[in-house]
Amino acid sequence: MNNNNKFLQAVKEINSVIGANNVLRDEAALCLNSFDGSPVRIRPDAVINIPSAEVLPSVIKILNAYKIPFIPRTAATNHDGGCIAVKGGCILNLSALNEITLIDTQNGYAVAECGVINKDLQDALEPLGFFYAPDPASMAFCTVGGNAALNAGGPRTLKYGSTASNILKAEFVPPQGEVLLLDRHAAGPDVLSLLVKSEGTLGIITKLWLKILPKQPALKTISVYFKTLQDTVAAVEDIIRAGIIPSALEAMDKANLEVTKTPCPQGTDAFLLIELDGKKSAVEKEALQVLGFCQKHNALKTETASSQEQRLALWKSRKSAAAAMAKLAPNLVSLDGGIPRSNLPSAIGSVADIIKKYGLRGGMVFHAGDGNMHPNIAFDERNVYETLKVKQAVKEINMAEAAAKGTISAEHGIGVEKRAAMAFMFEDSALALFKNIKKAFDPYNVSNPDKVLPVASSSRLKASVPDDEETLKIIKRVKECYSAKTKVSICALKTNFKPKGEILDLSRLNKITDIDKNNFMVTVQAGTAVKTLAAELAKDNMYLPFPVCKGSIGGVFASKIFDNFADYVTAVDFVMADGTFIRLGGKYVKNSAGYDIIRLLSGSMGFYAALTALTVRVCAVKPATCVQREFAAFTPSEQQLKLKKVFDEYNIFNGCITGADNATR
Ligand SMILES: Cc1cc2nc3c(=O)[nH]c(=O)nc-3n(C[C@H](O)[C@H](O)[C@H](O)COP(=O)(O)OP(=O)(O)OC[C@H]3O[C@@H](n4cnc5c(N)ncnc54)[C@H](O)[C@@H]3O)c2cc1C
Repeated sequence: MNNNNKFLQAVKEINSVIGANNVLRDEAALCLNSFDGSPVRIRPDAVINIPSAEVLPSVIKILNAYKIPFIPRTAATNHDGGCIAVKGGCILNLSALNEITLIDTQNGYAVAECGVINKDLQDALEPLGFFYAPDPASMAFCTVGGNAALNAGGPRTLKYGSTASNILKAEFVPPQGEVLLLDRHAAGPDVLSLLVKSEGTLGIITKLWLKILPKQPALKTISVYFKTLQDTVAAVEDIIRAGIIPSALEAMDKANLEVTKTPCPQGTDAFLLIELDGKKSAVEKEALQVLGFCQKHNALKTETASSQEQRLALWKSRKSAAAAMAKLAPNLVSLDGGIPRSNLPSAIGSVADIIKKYGLRGGMVFHAGDGNMHPNIAFDERNVYETLKVKQAVKEINMAEAAAKGTISAEHGIGVEKRAAMAFMFEDSALALFKNIKKAFDPYNVSNPDKVLPVASSSRLKASVPDDEETLKIIKRVKECYSAKTKVSICALKTNFKPKGEILDLSRLNKITDIDKNNFMVTVQAGTAVKTLAAELAKDNMYLPFPVCKGSIGGVFASKIFDNFADYVTAVDFVMADGTFIRLGGKYVKNSAGYDIIRLLSGSMGFYAALTALTVRVCAVKPATCVQREFAAFTPSEQQLKLKKVFDEYNIFNGCITGADNATR
């Protein structure tokens, strides 16, 4: 069958499942589905309107069988070409899957189909005194499914986490068309976080169980005008160091103050908006501290809202910044690097220099608390010269973000636009792992193909080599085991896991390599006892995000005994079963670049890789008590086994923990 006949046959079969009126091939439909929130435009071959979640698996099965690409699309507001049919194929329009099927305030969750508009969920929760934390500026028109696929964020991310931290369960359909119900807190590796946040490249999210929270009794909004961005960042650092986590810490530069026509005191170069929520007395106390820090760093003026009208007035310029910049020209590029807070001033300087060097119209807004900066550049794509300059500037900005040890995407995702820049941030070993995961789930490369991963380029980075003797010894030992196909049990302090047979002993990986008081992060080798680490941190009034317990820090992470610990782990070093050493992440608070291997490894119990080091966000106050789960072995699901083959083809690591010794053969 030639390609055209193959396509027509697939369309015929899909028509019989969902009705011919749901398969569109007319000019208007193709044109309307040829773009998203990025400058890329490519017409698809067809648009398939999915009328209900029930029919989706049959449609996907047909497309997969005929090897026809499909591209999930909900509201198409993403900035990176995620919904573009770069390899042709069909747009799957999921916007009709827009039902909120349950709100359970007793148990703190809501169930929503992927096409539910974020704001519709917020509006449904508001009268019940609840809210859903992810609050992208596009919330009035983007969907919870699109937010999940990209791990979207917003001002509240600093306090309440980005989308990935607010998903409890998901219904997910991989290209083969089976319906999976994934639970983030189920035993074993966190496959939910990997599949859901994959920008549609591993399959489709149909339904989400989302964490909802009771609204706080008090809210205080303060705006501050500073002489320099450096002063702004210094005030932010003091606020975080004092243990205050505002529900918003939003900053803007002078260019944005000008385009939004914000009245400012003379000499203002930067603006900071701080919103505090919590109990009234705590909020009042924190507000006084915050104002003190701002004064210390040369605040020119502060304003505090005492009514909802005043609050909205203070938010007005920050909320209208992107739109005001967009009015300057027909096109807008919006970038979203995430930088370790301490590197923010220099990264801001580099980006400002790049914008200036190319004479572009642009400025920066920031989620300053989590180091997420948004350079927004207005341009006219009909002006070829200007467009070329923008492309070069974007590339240089992505390089500057990576050079500042940051991520090229903190919340927008990669799509097509940033896929080449993945080579600035990830080493070849990590890119190869991502590609192997894609191949395992989508062997025909039909699910949103040619997104996220660089198509042609290889990494610009040199492979990391650990500078520590003990880690090098572990790598050597793993390589020997791999050559001899010797199975090993990975263990550190043997608190819960009683290893069998050959042992890969990580207990000598016990160094605390870096306590970073500016970024409030610690980098520690995996075999370090939690008690030792906690005692060291306490000397600097720093605390782990869970109560002190027995065992090693790597063991606690790998066995997922505290539900939300993975939300605090920003980087991991690990050794694959063939001895490849991989370093992922950094000292940035949130990340939307690449597959979420860090979360996947939480709960993996040494089944996939030997963790050698972690970077953990620490707290300025002792955490409230939280439930510690029993350490328990797990029976791997089909998806967990599929990933086992990607990480550890010969079942070298910890097969005994699951009984997978037999299962993977
Ligand atoms: C004015 C404006 C402001 C913005 N502000 C923010 C902000 O503050 N924070 C932020 O994070 N983003 C922001 N964005 C970007 C955008 O709104 C977000 O990325 C949003 O999460 C995209 O949601 P969507 O429903 O439009 O998804 P789409 O654009 O339709 O899809 C996004 C990606 O997810 C995939 N996808 C969609 N649905 C599914 C599904 N059901 N299953 C699997 N894959 C799927 C798509 O193929 C695509 O790759 C802004 C955009 C605009 C235009």
